[in-house]
Amino acid sequence: MTRFFIDTNHNVGEVVTISGENFDHLKVLRPRIGEVIELCNSARQVVFHAEVAEISRRDAQVKVIGQYPADSEPDVKITLFQAVPKGDKMELIIQKCVELGVFKIAPIITARTVSHPANSAQKQQRWQKISQAAAQQSRRGIIPEIGDIITFQEALSELANFDSAFVAYECEAGLKASEAFKAADGRNIALFIGPEGGFEESEIQELCANGAKSVSLGKRILRAETAAFAVTIILLSAQGEF
Ligand code: SAH
Repeated sequence: MTRFFIDTNHNVGEVVTISGENFDHLKVLRPRIGEVIELCNSARQVVFHAEVAEISRRDAQVKVIGQYPADSEPDVKITLFQAVPKGDKMELIIQKCVELGVFKIAPIITARTVSHPANSAQKQQRWQKISQAAAQQSRRGIIPEIGDIITFQEALSELANFDSAFVAYECEAGLKASEAFKAADGRNIALFIGPEGGFEESEIQELCANGAKSVSLGKRILRAETAAFAVTIILLSAQGEF
């Protein structure tokens, strides 16, 4: 059943018009009359099942046949502070980490970040669309926000808003991510992943001085995108999500 995100609230029996971007997407799926789709109101965490009743050139009418709580969101809210990698790797990171269950992705510029997107607002909008498509496909209860591209210092100043924070650091020899995450406090957790060239030691020190713990993802050096998937999976698994 395909999921569409809406910001309206409905009653069973009501006929709802699907227009705009949702209609453009629905049209591509060539739905038949009577086919059931899902309408998810992320603010209210409610999912409506609705039957396609009529399709015209501009919009479609669907009839609400059921209302259910949206139950696909993990208990833990992960914000992934991801140093912007080269090329289009960020797109892959967004797609996969949204499928896995991150709450938000905050792209950051660190000392060794080589990719400085020329039109960052346009990039951010494109990334937000990728998040939306991945959220629809994976039936998330929310569309994870992709933040504006911020500096490392700005990211540091946001750390006070989290219950726990961790930075994946390839030189960390003591603390394994799986152990650290089992003991992680609270629901709002920040995870930091560096760029291709890694974090500078001074950045790791600043993160730790602001309450983050540095964790190891094993003795191999992972590419930034592999590290982003690994850290998300290990945290969700340690917290009992899967
Ligand atoms: N510059 C480094 C590799 C950086 S990999 C080198 O070539 O030696 C990119 C990012 O992935 C790192 O900043 C880190 O956040 C994460 N990462 C990769 N492998 C890791 C590991 N084994 N443990 C923890 N973090 C890792």
